[in-house]
Amino acid sequence: MDLKTSVNEAMQIRFRELFGDRFQLNVPLARYTSARVGGPAEMFVTIKSATELGTAVELAYAQRIPYFIFGGGSNILVADRGLAGLVILNKAREVTFRHTGSSVVCTAESGMNLSSLARQCINKGLGGLEWAIGVPGTVGGAVVGNSGAHGGDMNGSLLAISVWEPGKGACIYSSEDLNYGYRDSVLKQEQGTSLPRRVVLTAEIELTPEPVETLMARADGFTAHRRQSQPAGATMGSMFKNPENYYAGYLIDSAGLKGYRVGGARISEKHANFFINEGGATAEDVRRLIAEAWNTVREQFGIEMQLEVELVGDWEFED
Ligand SMILES: Cc1cc2nc3c(=O)[nH]c(=O)nc-3n(C[C@H](O)[C@H](O)[C@H](O)COP(=O)(O)OP(=O)(O)OC[C@H]3O[C@@H](n4cnc5c(N)ncnc54)[C@H](O)[C@@H]3O)c2cc1C
Repeated sequence: MDLKTSVNEAMQIRFRELFGDRFQLNVPLARYTSARVGGPAEMFVTIKSATELGTAVELAYAQRIPYFIFGGGSNILVADRGLAGLVILNKAREVTFRHTGSSVVCTAESGMNLSSLARQCINKGLGGLEWAIGVPGTVGGAVVGNSGAHGGDMNGSLLAISVWEPGKGACIYSSEDLNYGYRDSVLKQEQGTSLPRRVVLTAEIELTPEPVETLMARADGFTAHRRQSQPAGATMGSMFKNPENYYAGYLIDSAGLKGYRVGGARISEKHANFFINEGGATAEDVRRLIAEAWNTVREQFGIEMQLEVELVGDWEFED
């Protein structure tokens, strides 16, 4: 037995002790992603609290097992060959509210669904997160990617986070520490590197009391706009970031690629920055669509678009 196998086995025993049936091997990930594509996780654990999240990641790090935090799976494209190491499905969802003078601070565990949290805040007459109505995924995913819509974003709502840092444990970061930019943060920049990544445990969000009717009207307007401008179906949201002075969707559309198809994946006719799994698409189908859009836009307009979606797992690139 080689060292890697024995380390893996020791870790599996420990994870079974701690998490029981919530720890599994060889778990298909497609059903956990919004695009419904992607291969299996070598090891998979579902955690239900921020404490469990810290424990799982600490154990994996101590054993030098690669780990990946899986939120709502709405901003990632998982390779058909899957992901080596441990995938941690984040279902830590506790939310608390506390009054601080004229505002209210909400502390949410990072596995909380962002849109559900926004709805909860509206129902309580607390304004500030209405932009997040209809944005899929978790608070943790939104903190990492500085998710935003309708002129709002995490940067505008976030006060601070607690983060698990490799070799250090739990630390507090202010919103400024995250160095936020358009769909960007210091945590997002760790994507695609071989470094062990930091993990968001909880987030503190500042809210302001407002009449429920006002908040609901604002949220309804945002929902109507989303329905009118975005396609339904299995997607990852916007595939590319908007390049400076352009919309990625406009560029892909102008390149004549609306409706372009590879296997079971198609560029939406309604919004060309949305790539849809029409049923039975592979991750490789989607990746080929990405390559076609990127190359065609570069050839026709000289613009090199940047992916908003993260490619994760074991990819074998042919072109
Ligand atoms: C239909 C549709 C509409 C969308 N509309 C919008 C929109 O309007 N605005 C917008 O900004 N985005 C939009 N998105 C994209 C997506 O919803 C956001 O990027 C979302 O914040 C991703 O969160 P997630 O939990 O799904 O992250 P995942 O896809 O699970 O993960 C994304 C990355 O974040 C990391 N991560 C997740 N949780 C943690 C954590 N706790 N600690 C550390 N790292 C973590 C993952 O490891 C991964 O690297 C849309 C997506 C879809 C499918």
